[in-house]
Amino acid sequence: MNVFVKGLRCRECGRTYPKEPLFVCEYCFGSLEVSYDYQGIRQVLNKKVISERPANLWRYKELLPLEGEPTDGLDSGFTPLIKAEKLGQALGVEKLYIKDDSVNYPTLSFKDRVVAVALSKAKEFGFKTVACASTGNLANSLAAQAAKANLKSFIFIPANLELSKVIGTLIYGANLVAVEGNYDEVNRLCGEIAASYNWAFVNINIRPYYAEGSKTFAFEIAEQLGWEAPEHIIVPVAGGSLISKIWKGLKEFKELGLIKDLKTKVHAAQARGCSPVVTAIKENSDIIKPVKPDTIVKSLAIGNPADGYYAVQAVWESGGYGEVATDDEVIEGIKLLAETEGIFTETAGGVTIAVTQKLLKQGKIKKNDSIVISITGNGLKTQEVIAQELKKPVKIKPNLSSFEETMGLVKAKSI
Ligand SMILES: *Cc1c(COP(=O)(O)O)cnc(C)c1O
Repeated sequence: MNVFVKGLRCRECGRTYPKEPLFVCEYCFGSLEVSYDYQGIRQVLNKKVISERPANLWRYKELLPLEGEPTDGLDSGFTPLIKAEKLGQALGVEKLYIKDDSVNYPTLSFKDRVVAVALSKAKEFGFKTVACASTGNLANSLAAQAAKANLKSFIFIPANLELSKVIGTLIYGANLVAVEGNYDEVNRLCGEIAASYNWAFVNINIRPYYAEGSKTFAFEIAEQLGWEAPEHIIVPVAGGSLISKIWKGLKEFKELGLIKDLKTKVHAAQARGCSPVVTAIKENSDIIKPVKPDTIVKSLAIGNPADGYYAVQAVWESGGYGEVATDDEVIEGIKLLAETEGIFTETAGGVTIAVTQKLLKQGKIKKNDSIVISITGNGLKTQEVIAQELKKPVKIKPNLSSFEETMGLVKAKSI
């Protein structure tokens, strides 16, 4: 029994609400956030307790919004933090790390974290059906984890998603609805559906609980660096939940004394063809102007981000900045990460690599700083953007001489 979850609290007016499937303040329409009893948590949670627990995201369960024990996503999280020596050489930096959620379990993206928490919470609330609006990765994770959890799922996506993200949803038997429109239109429709059906829409009516799962990305980085927060984290931004919760998670670790100081700057990374958050940051404004997405980076193509305002706040509070990557730079970023570190990321990872390069050039990140680049999705899911950009395989006849001739090798000479 987790006695440390106090309830929900409005991020704007501070009014408190009970632990129910609520997401918006009735008085000021601010969004609701889960609040905790940190003094209580301090009594029971320390580095030793956490380190001795299994290597999944529930090792931080006191800081996650369940009443009882987790029921779903028991193997999600605790993905590798890689010391990226070769990419570091290419970028001219020494303390460079990759937080690699492209190998998250079970569906190879950051979304396995938020879905693990959302489904465990949906079950506590007694929901039988779960649903979401998705740019692809959430669809995959919700479909997979709902199948295992014995929950029905309805999943709404823009009709133009990558084939692998469509197949990677259908395979689990989900009800997949492809809407002729962009994500923002899909999401608006889902708002209407959520109002008439008693379903757990993970990114609508149980969003406050779902979003808490994102904090574990930051908890793990700090733990894996030896209970220290890095000086920079570069974060891909879609709806703005991940970046704002990374910042909340780091502040919680500081509050609990799990890290000594908090010097991290969080930086927002978006595609040039859909950059409402980075545009606001650069204009020194906290007003998000919605845009119509036009980019190959479909996983981040949210033109009207629900947590855009909080994403900007997290960046300002931490002293970070934001940058954009063009589609060509995204492809170069994907290739650079693969050729240096052996990691095949999706388009969102190309964005964070390219943005890191730009922030280094601009001096926003210094050469000697410690840097963590977030890799949040897997390249096998967005193969169509890269397929035409690679060399073709060498074709030969099935004999040794054909191999040697084609490759220009001289017989009997060792190479
Ligand atoms: C969902 C997602 C993110 C983060 O999205 P937010 O809505 O900002 O939390 C980052 N990368 C990938 C690949 C994603 O699918």
